Amino acid sequence: MSYAPSPNNGKSLAWSNTRITLLERCERKYYFNYYPFALKVPHPELWAETLVLKGLKSIEMRVGEKSHYLLSDYLHLLKTHIQEWNNASSLRDTQVQDLKEQIKAEMETEFMFSKTRDYQDYEHSFGKFGLSEHFYGEDYQALPVAIEKVWGNLDHFIASKWEEKVQEYFVSAPIVYVERPRVPNFEAMKVAISRLPGLEDVSVLASPDFWVSLSDTSYLILDWKSGKEDVLQNNISNQLRVYALKMLLKKGLTSLEGMHIEAYEIYLKNMNAYGGVLTQNDITTIITKIWNDVNEMKQFLKDQNVKENIPLDPFIFRKTSNTKKCETCTFRKVCAKLT
Ligand code: SF4
Repeated sequence: MSYAPSPNNGKSLAWSNTRITLLERCERKYYFNYYPFALKVPHPELWAETLVLKGLKSIEMRVGEKSHYLLSDYLHLLKTHIQEWNNASSLRDTQVQDLKEQIKAEMETEFMFSKTRDYQDYEHSFGKFGLSEHFYGEDYQALPVAIEKVWGNLDHFIASKWEEKVQEYFVSAPIVYVERPRVPNFEAMKVAISRLPGLEDVSVLASPDFWVSLSDTSYLILDWKSGKEDVLQNNISNQLRVYALKMLLKKGLTSLEGMHIEAYEIYLKNMNAYGGVLTQNDITTIITKIWNDVNEMKQFLKDQNVKENIPLDPFIFRKTSNTKKCETCTFRKVCAKLT
């Protein structure tokens, strides 16, 4: 069958750290994740199945997502009730327990739904929750462990020095922003990357979990991490650099001169923090990286046109040679069929 891609999905090429990492991990997986619409005309069944798989999450991914929800809910409540909670700790304990019970109930409901869901019902699958462990029929029973991890992540934060700092900012800083991951604001997530030459038609979305404006020229950025620490982690990650770049571009700047931006990634499992004060080299490095990454991603597009963003034939996207990566890949079922 000759390959005829569907029209694009109306979106120009987007850059993210996750996206380029996925491309480097497995080109074929990158294709399934970002270009399933291109399968619709030549392989309608495969397209439908790929969409179902794209919507799945592993239980560990779900732990990360729910940890972010719970911490965000907690911080919003803290912001509103800071005085009352400081005057009556029992009130605080009760409300924190209520938040925990709420997230537990959500996870139990979703787990049961995922377990009994008909994964062959492609027609009504859009937006439905599912765990990849259930799709692949793995005998996974550890929901209580997952709930414990989510609760534990909040407990670690509450017991840490970061909680005290956050309280101070709520009281004294002119602007404190707490992300609401349950209701992402895509407009607010946009990075004004089109201001940079060569990136006019590229979109970048990024939003840190928490940031504080201490003055017009001084910012602190915090980002919660629920996974394992990266053993190769440099002091300032690329993700933190993107957040800092976003702050600068918002002000029409690409230079840190006269600005002070400090940023940390905080691992909720043990509250280890990685980061520091951003330098101009961090900003230059991330701009160059985005530019190089976009050039790499362009090689997989028809006419290298980032605005149209139509992928080449799926077989151009090579499978990883490291079959170990395939063992837990969400797309392994459709990958085996696309031959
Ligand atoms: S199963 Fe392996 S080769 Fe196929 S998409 Fe997943 S990681 Fe890539």
